[in-house]
Amino acid sequence: MPNISTFIKRFGEEKAKSEFNKWYQEYRTRNLEKNREYNREYNKNWRAMFGPEEYQREWRAKNPEKYQAQRKLQWAIKKGKIKKPKFCENCPRSVGLVGHHSDYSLPFLVVWLCHACHRAVHYGNNKNRWIIEKEGNKKWQEFRN
Ligand SMILES: [Zn+2]
Ligand SMILES: [Zn+2]
Repeated sequence: MPNISTFIKRFGEEKAKSEFNKWYQEYRTRNLEKNREYNREYNKNWRAMFGPEEYQREWRAKNPEKYQAQRKLQWAIKKGKIKKPKFCENCPRSVGLVGHHSDYSLPFLVVWLCHACHRAVHYGNNKNRWIIEKEGNKKWQEFRN
């Protein structure tokens, strides 16, 4: 993200501020649209995984390995073998907490993430993804040892 000095260099002191504001407005609109798109995509997936039966059926058929991993995880939670935490492992939020799998062949190895962080892992910028994947990898190492 450029700062105001980049605009001063390019447009001169007088025009810098208005040019910057113009650019920022456009940047915000672009981001809003992107965010909306991500949200739509995420909600669609969420509904397919955890929503009503009719949404799940098609998703299951298309993603058998994901479905099996989720099912095993649910079973382990029900049996008290795995405890679902109260909060996200990446931030203090708790909204829409889900177990994110890095590897579906390891159904019990999940990073618990809130709606926002989980969305960031799947659709977000690389920085967020890196932080969360790093947490996941740490767990993976502990799990293997
Ligand atoms: Zn979070
Ligand atoms: Zn995930």
